[in-house]
Amino acid sequence: MEFRLIDRLQALTAQARDDVRLGIGDDAALLAVPDGQQLAVAIDTLVEGVHFPVGTAPADVGWKALAVNLSDLAAMGATPAWALLALTLPAQPADAQQARVDGLAEGFAQLARRHGVALVGGDTTRGPFVLSVAVHGFVPPGQALRREGARVGDLVFVTGTLGDAAAGLQRLAVADDPDEENRRAVLRERLNRPTPRVAAGLALRGRATACIDVSDGLLADLGHVCTASGVGAELEASTLPLSSALLGCCDKAAARDYALSGGDDYELCFTVAPARAGELQADLGRLGCGATRIGRIVAGAGVRVRGEDGAWRASGRAGWDHFPDETLPG
Ligand code: ADP
Ligand code: MG
Repeated sequence: MEFRLIDRLQALTAQARDDVRLGIGDDAALLAVPDGQQLAVAIDTLVEGVHFPVGTAPADVGWKALAVNLSDLAAMGATPAWALLALTLPAQPADAQQARVDGLAEGFAQLARRHGVALVGGDTTRGPFVLSVAVHGFVPPGQALRREGARVGDLVFVTGTLGDAAAGLQRLAVADDPDEENRRAVLRERLNRPTPRVAAGLALRGRATACIDVSDGLLADLGHVCTASGVGAELEASTLPLSSALLGCCDKAAARDYALSGGDDYELCFTVAPARAGELQADLGRLGCGATRIGRIVAGAGVRVRGEDGAWRASGRAGWDHFPDETLPG
């Protein structure tokens, strides 16, 4: 059974790369790192019921398991190359197991093909439904995007839009309105099939002073940049990029709370010196995701946010770590 399963995975995720000297099938893969490159490696685990809702389509799970990892490489400015997949599956009837594995492999492979990533090995065991993906990418020495480089006076930007995935997680009744249903579908797609900003990460290399991917929420993740860099950040709530799908599902205050505190967006938050910001923003616009200026780096520590009323709110206090469900229409 296990070998059939590995064969399926291999068949469905086949991706030729010259630098894979030996892929799936032996005790270890043999990989050739290009001359003059450093290896950037990352690993992330998804647990059913913790990192994705029970009942999520297997193809979405396969996509997301790779996407969250490619997002980490993107945030480092690395070019993705190889992946390993450790898969733990509960016992199931053979046909259900086959369907699950095919779905996982299909979703994984769709995203892998998009980025030329080869699945070069993994492990398969029985137990609760858990996927660990490890990814490997390349970055020239000294060019990786780090969390520690933000400087006072830098501008803070974020790619794409924020808050969609967190809103997509809310299992809210959809009004009897096709537009409402479409908006919900857009938000759920953002939750289940995040787009790792790989090309944006490459464009930031040598230009952004610091970068992080937004997995735990903007305030938390920008907070990590501030801590690593020994600076503070000030954000303008009115500038947060919000999708029309999100704004169509809740009021602006709730949408901003999702954008600030919700997780799973997998956008890139980065800092850049003002003199380089305009050209970089134009380049990211051409890449399709765009980037929005949301604040600036200041002396001090922590992230604070100015509302439209001009009042400042500091992060880390009671009031941030909640989702304002009660303000969302049913
Ligand atoms: P071993 O006992 O030597 O670890 P396995 O039976 O676990 O061998 O794996 C056999 C081959 O199949 C190895 O090359 C391994 O990398 C690959 N493999 C196992 N599980 C997976 C998986 N889930 N995804 C991709 N490759 C896998
Ligand atoms: Mg093994």
